[in-house]
Amino acid sequence: MVMALDAIETTCVYCGCGCGIYLHVDNNRVNAVTPSLKPPARGRLCAKGWLLPDFVGHPDRLREPMMRKGDRYVQTSWSEALSFIAKSLAEIKRDSGPDALAVLTSAKATNEENYLLMKLGRAALGTNNIDNVARLCHAPTLFALGASLGSGSMTNPIESLLHSDVIMIIGSNTTEQHPAVALHIMEARRNGAKIIVVDPRRTQIAEIADLHLQIRPGTDIALLNAILNIVIREGMIDEDFIRSRTDGFDAVRDRIAEYTPEAAERICGVPAERIHDAAVMYGSAGTAAIVYAMGITQHAHGTDNVQAIANLALATGNLGRDGAGIYPLRGHHNVQGACDMGALPDYYTGYQRVSEFREKFEAAWNVELPESHGRTAVEIMGSAGSEIRGMYISGENPALSYPNGSRIRKALESLDLLVVADIFPTETTRMADVVLPIASFAEKYGTVTSTERKVQLIRKAIDPPGSALPEWIVAAKLLEIFGIPAGYDSSADVMREIAALTPSYGGITHERLERGGIHWPCPTETHPGTPVLYRDGFPRGRALFRHVDQRRCEKEMFTLIIGRSQYHFHTGSMTRRVCILEREVPEAFVDINPEDAAALGIRNGTGVILESGSGTIRARARLSDSVNSGTLFMPFHFRESPANMLTGWQLDPHSKVPALKITSVSIRREGA
Ligand code: SF4
Repeated sequence: MVMALDAIETTCVYCGCGCGIYLHVDNNRVNAVTPSLKPPARGRLCAKGWLLPDFVGHPDRLREPMMRKGDRYVQTSWSEALSFIAKSLAEIKRDSGPDALAVLTSAKATNEENYLLMKLGRAALGTNNIDNVARLCHAPTLFALGASLGSGSMTNPIESLLHSDVIMIIGSNTTEQHPAVALHIMEARRNGAKIIVVDPRRTQIAEIADLHLQIRPGTDIALLNAILNIVIREGMIDEDFIRSRTDGFDAVRDRIAEYTPEAAERICGVPAERIHDAAVMYGSAGTAAIVYAMGITQHAHGTDNVQAIANLALATGNLGRDGAGIYPLRGHHNVQGACDMGALPDYYTGYQRVSEFREKFEAAWNVELPESHGRTAVEIMGSAGSEIRGMYISGENPALSYPNGSRIRKALESLDLLVVADIFPTETTRMADVVLPIASFAEKYGTVTSTERKVQLIRKAIDPPGSALPEWIVAAKLLEIFGIPAGYDSSADVMREIAALTPSYGGITHERLERGGIHWPCPTETHPGTPVLYRDGFPRGRALFRHVDQRRCEKEMFTLIIGRSQYHFHTGSMTRRVCILEREVPEAFVDINPEDAAALGIRNGTGVILESGSGTIRARARLSDSVNSGTLFMPFHFRESPANMLTGWQLDPHSKVPALKITSVSIRREGA
């Protein structure tokens, strides 16, 4: 029986909801997890949250630094590993220049770790080739909401959904991927809120929706523009809000007229009457929220998709109030924080542009900083082995998670130096020259920032295995080797430096966070934080409408939607080591409509071959009418069936997010 005294309060480190949890510890082991009563957990956790202890104490954890010697890895000391890394990075910098180096930080690491790795890249290595996994998920959010509203982040806290009259969910399998958000949506529904779901799949949340618009994949803009057109035509806009707080509405109104519900039906396949019903439901609501995830962003037109959402919220005045707002749901627990910490090629912390704030950071760090334009994550991979020769990857597994997997693997293999820091061996650590064992969330102090901009503490509950270290210590040691004074005694010291340089984090300290999480912006130590953005105005003065058009839809063989299973997380390096989660979904599956399956001679459980211009993989078919004819769905967590082998290299031109969400494939029975 675990006693309450053994409970360490901390934060779940799977999805971006940021549920508060208690780790129950005995004899340097995490034995159990229980939920916090504070929002957003409010006494509840999902399956992944309850099973957190299974990965923390797993015997596969990396324990000691390893260096490649020929075909095998040999254990080494931290001092030898770090000296080798620093020497190799310095040699590449000397021979090929600083932009031959790159740092990919981690949305699974703390804010302090992301900050110091960003500082390592810029101040020590001299490059802006710094990015994080947000490039693969919410870069369009950063770009579109940043340009339109002034901040590329969630406008309201999760709890604010309880005040919504209507919640529109687009491209989000909310119950499976953001369960804490889904529980709030269901509670809002019990209180009378109407739910609209826009999704090509009939997901769990679509089943409880008042309206499910089952669109053709990739046609969101046609649908959203038609909804906005109806809202304008039928007088459901908020004229005061538009006049007093926005620019650009007239141009959008004039151009959107061609998006009639009938024209949209021809593109997106949703009957015109249902589009009309959705427009009236959203447009006539007193307070309406829009919730979206990677079904919207991971497209070659992801930025335009997000802008179409912003146009709708602005036209109806659904911003700056409880219950209204735009909710981009982050997948990893610290995607928001990694971006806030400036792990981006064009921004320092708090979205201070490199082009405008270089001198400020040069003065603070007492070093000359690079002016050159940094590469994004996918561009870094595209240059690996040619312009890029050395790379430090923190806690990510691009061999499985990036588009066009076979090209990524070749790129990583061709580097002169690949350093990977992680808690488990992965497909990417197996290609590294040096593997660094990192402390998990249960073994270190620090902060993470959830999808609702809430900065929260993670607290050390146990010691790490072997000689594994918190990564902020690793980054600080490397900074010292490169002659950049670090001198941090704790991660709290790192946060003090972040706060001094970052207006939106200016009032955030570990000491304050001991009393509970704080929503940024929080500019001073007496500021309470800002749960709801834009109550009194927009940071850019007036918010901006921008018209976006639906791009032409190609005729596909099959459109494969790539997503996630509720029982696994990202590339499965943690959840596939949790036996209950692995028991539930032990292998990849491809959902195929029964009509298509019958035509191809495919039965439930048949092995199938999927082929695209980028690669070929095998998986097992699952007959399901959750997808329409012509559409397939599969999760990407499984190394045996790596779905991202099928995706190409197409990027959104604004945010450079790769089109990971849908790809065109053929499917056939194995052996046919
Ligand atoms: Fe963790 Fe997300 Fe589940 Fe909450 S909803 S317990 S943050 S995985």
